[in-house]
Amino acid sequence: MIVAERKTIPEMVEILKRHKKILVLGCGTCVTVCLAGGEREVSIIASALRIASKVQGLGFEVSELTIERQCDNIFIEQAAEAVEKCDAVLSTACGAGVQAIAERYPQKPVYAGLNTAFLGILEERGVWTEKCVACGDCVLDKYGGVCPITRCAKHMLNGPCGGSREDHCEIRPDRPCAWQLIYKRLKDIGQIERLETIVEPKDWSSSLSGGPRVIIREDHRV
Ligand code: SF4
Ligand code: SF4
Repeated sequence: MIVAERKTIPEMVEILKRHKKILVLGCGTCVTVCLAGGEREVSIIASALRIASKVQGLGFEVSELTIERQCDNIFIEQAAEAVEKCDAVLSTACGAGVQAIAERYPQKPVYAGLNTAFLGILEERGVWTEKCVACGDCVLDKYGGVCPITRCAKHMLNGPCGGSREDHCEIRPDRPCAWQLIYKRLKDIGQIERLETIVEPKDWSSSLSGGPRVIIREDHRV
């Protein structure tokens, strides 16, 4: 899922202070699961903005709505009336959702209420960890399903770097060394010989380094 974190209330106030009627628009998918921008968080943010408005005399009128997905036009339509009535939208979707709302309502200021962080998983209660940087050319098959680009601090395709201490990363001692995980996983699944082959440098043109990416499925365009 996409993992995001809430901006602080003072940051939101700074972003919104030129407006009066504000819609806090939540998203019911990834950001709900990572407890950053779903219905519950929208309610908390809206309450905090009302309090900040009273304390600072900002005159905010804050409304709330959460739709199922902000990155999908079918659901964006459900927000049309609420968006129409407000001066500005504070979206608590990921960056894609915020931009989808801004594109759908070109005359309306739309602001991000979250910092979109990464593609990851819930590792344990209250802890989300990054697992993929969407490089566009997945090489997990070579590494036993452990991504060296995302999980090795040096993004080494041929590791380890030699700095690991007690199975932990030299750069991020709070995280396991990705290459320790790769070694163990390849050993466990009987593919340790993969480490005898030097992996060629990766073609990064399919990553963001090649510019904004588009996927076109001709079979779905009819
Ligand atoms: S190799 Fe690329 S696509 Fe695959 S998990 Fe790593 S970053 Fe994601
Ligand atoms: S210690 Fe391991 S995870 Fe950290 S940079 Fe070196 S090889 Fe990568």
